[in-house]
Amino acid sequence: MLLDGKVALVTGASRGIGRAIAKEFASQGAKVALCARSVDALQAVADEIAAAGGCAQPFALDVSSADGVRAVVEAVTEHLGRLDILINNAGITRDGLIARMKDDAWEEVLNTNLRGAFYLARAAAKIMMRQRCGKIVNISSVVGLTGNPGQANYAASKAGLIGMTRSVAKELGSRNIQVNAIAPGFIVTDMTDSLPEALKATLLEQIPLGRLGQPEEIAKAALFLASDWSDYVTGQVLAVCGGLT
Ligand code: NAP
Repeated sequence: MLLDGKVALVTGASRGIGRAIAKEFASQGAKVALCARSVDALQAVADEIAAAGGCAQPFALDVSSADGVRAVVEAVTEHLGRLDILINNAGITRDGLIARMKDDAWEEVLNTNLRGAFYLARAAAKIMMRQRCGKIVNISSVVGLTGNPGQANYAASKAGLIGMTRSVAKELGSRNIQVNAIAPGFIVTDMTDSLPEALKATLLEQIPLGRLGQPEEIAKAALFLASDWSDYVTGQVLAVCGGLT
């Protein structure tokens, strides 16, 4: 078991990629704090994990609230004893062309995807620095590397996460804390469900592996970056995208 005795906090754990990461980590022996806004969905994931013999606890959290993050990180360390792994996965899209993008579409995406990850990384860093070990994995996107029309807000948030990853890795390396990012390509979740079929067909032509990815394939990469297997890896961006970039 690669994560035996570890405590992991996963944001956006109620569905999609976050749910897959939480299930993978629990199956590898971690105690998992499941965070998202919808408590019922989190409880369902916790029940699934318990039924498979794992350990997980739901914590209602809107990552864009600084007070909320502070309270949840405190509650996690109180209930689960420590914090070894942070997965900043919660994310949203509000697509639109730049000339028509409303202020609130920009703010909502940046506040969730980037500000939320900052709040969590800051809170986790304090604990991990005391522990003298820890792993932070930020879920960015290939769009943060390449840009995408209609996603200036989303791409900016995901590129921002990469800058934050590289900077924090440099700050925390001396404390034995590794900070990395994953840049998923197009993964089958609710987020990509609504893409028009014609766009999906065009995308498929650009993906050398010829298919969209599965959430479990991102979870395997997250497991690598959260486990001892990656102890000499920090400040990196791992693209898990079927060769798209
Ligand atoms: P998803 O199925 O839409 O799930 C998003 C998760 O984030 C949900 O659990 C949602 O739960 C949570 N969330 C949203 N806003 C939140 C907030 N303010 N506070 C706390 N939790 C919040 O998306 P996904 O496809 O699994 O994406 C997960 C991450 O991977 C995102 O950061 C996304 O940008 C990134 N990504 C996805 C793809 C893809 O193709 N799917 C590609 C590249 C990167 P609640 O709504 O209950 O809060």
